[in-house]
Amino acid sequence: MRRPFVVIGLGRFGGSVTQELIRQGAEVLAIDRDDAKIEAFREHVTSSVVADATDEKVLKELGVHEYTHVIVAIGNDIEASILTTLLLSELGVPDISVKAQNDYHARVLTKIGADRVLHPERDMGTRLAHNLMSKNIIDYAELSGQLSVMEMTVDEHKCGGTIGALELRRKYHCAVVAVCRNGTFFSSPPMTEVIKKGDILVVLGLTKDVYQLEQAMAHKKEG
Ligand code: ATP
Repeated sequence: MRRPFVVIGLGRFGGSVTQELIRQGAEVLAIDRDDAKIEAFREHVTSSVVADATDEKVLKELGVHEYTHVIVAIGNDIEASILTTLLLSELGVPDISVKAQNDYHARVLTKIGADRVLHPERDMGTRLAHNLMSKNIIDYAELSGQLSVMEMTVDEHKCGGTIGALELRRKYHCAVVAVCRNGTFFSSPPMTEVIKKGDILVVLGLTKDVYQLEQAMAHKKEG
């Protein structure tokens, strides 16, 4: 059976991915060419190695091809990031996620076999911008190229009304797929569900439709 996770590069991004995987009880092999980074994580990860991930022999010796997911979190050294991704792909790693520095880097990564290309800084910027559009937008995430999900509250005068009365489906082709209320969560709320003060509605839709809803909220026509 394959082992689960390898994280290559323990900078801020790779470090936080590693910490979260460990927090969730996963086994992680951490690789970084900087021994100070490895030292800082040594006690927490299952195993850790000071190594240059662009060295094919080293990757083979570490048995990286026996793992299911490899996260390449090498940032500034784009050449090293590309070469490492190529080697992982050639070694047959089934799931490769790579942090990209820019769009050109992302395109190359996709071509050479990255399964998931990550843009953490860009995505955080996008989320913040969405959050700033309206005080009612709590969070926003693009799930795929097409679908987006948004957490939103409604203005106080709309509390006491039903989800159906917001007409999100008719006006914006968006669905309220869940409600968070007082720390609890329930999915597929009926249209007749009465919105209570403090409710967070989880709204799903095509990215372009969620965008229209956000625009309306930003200009106070909705929410
Ligand atoms: P972050 O924003 O996540 O902090 P960054 O984008 O600034 O990272 P770097 O600090 O350049 O990126 O790289 C992240 C980590 O990757 C560093 O700890 C670095 O030592 C490690 N690293 C870079 N190149 C290699 C390599 N060839 N092999 C192994 N580790 C590497």
